[in-house]
Amino acid sequence: KLSLRGVVKRFGDSTVCDGIDLDVEEGQMVCLIGASGAGKSTLLRCINLLEAVEDGEIFLDGEDIAVPGLNPQGVRARIGMVFQSFNLFPHMTALENAMLAPRRVHGRSRADLVGEVEELFTRFGLADRMHNYPDQLSGGQQQRVAIIRALAMRPEVMLFDEITSALDPQLVGEVLDVLLMLKQQGMTMVLATHEMGFARQAADKVCFLKDGKIIEEGPPEALFDAPQREETKAFLARAL
Ligand code: ATP
Ligand code: MG
Repeated sequence: KLSLRGVVKRFGDSTVCDGIDLDVEEGQMVCLIGASGAGKSTLLRCINLLEAVEDGEIFLDGEDIAVPGLNPQGVRARIGMVFQSFNLFPHMTALENAMLAPRRVHGRSRADLVGEVEELFTRFGLADRMHNYPDQLSGGQQQRVAIIRALAMRPEVMLFDEITSALDPQLVGEVLDVLLMLKQQGMTMVLATHEMGFARQAADKVCFLKDGKIIEEGPPEALFDAPQREETKAFLARAL
């Protein structure tokens, strides 16, 4: 379980996360929605310790990971993150890309890992692609490799930041399908997304961010069909 309490992140004078409280239960998918600049990416980056928070607590299974001086590598091994840009290493095959982090961070041998990682490629429909280089793969396939690469670390939680935004529309579905499979397998996930249809279909909870605050949250039916706040209604009117 992931719990945020009063998380504050500032850049100079601007408060980008302004006292965020968020609970993500085990196996839940939580979607963050909101206008550009609302603070969705920054919040995900704070959870993964890519940004240092100014105030507040971030509990991962009860342990505060936002304390100064904690080694972020250890946390990033437990919380995987996938970005809009896939950032695969071009000179390595898909399989080698996926094995890199567990080899480096967990010190696991290739022989020990390979079966497990091949299994991930098979499960996500890429068994015939794992020996290809990134430039031999479609955008959707590359993004699925990026997800597999994060999963190879056996994370407890996965964070996804607009992972379909850079894809051609016809490739979006195959990446969202991977998220649905992960949900079925009980993965705990937080997504920043502009895919409102997907959030409605798949999220357990949707949080609407504005100016660094979660100003409304609830199950998708409530948030999309009966939003309470005027700001939420205005955003959804533009986004849907
Ligand atoms: P989008 O939907 O466009 O991805 P977002 O909700 O993810 O938007 P963030 O990227 O979190 O928004 O940005 C929130 C605010 O923080 C923006 O005003 C942005 O300019 C600012 N910001 C983000 N990163 C930095 C940084 N490294 N330095 C200064 N300001 C930043
Ligand atoms: Mg963003």
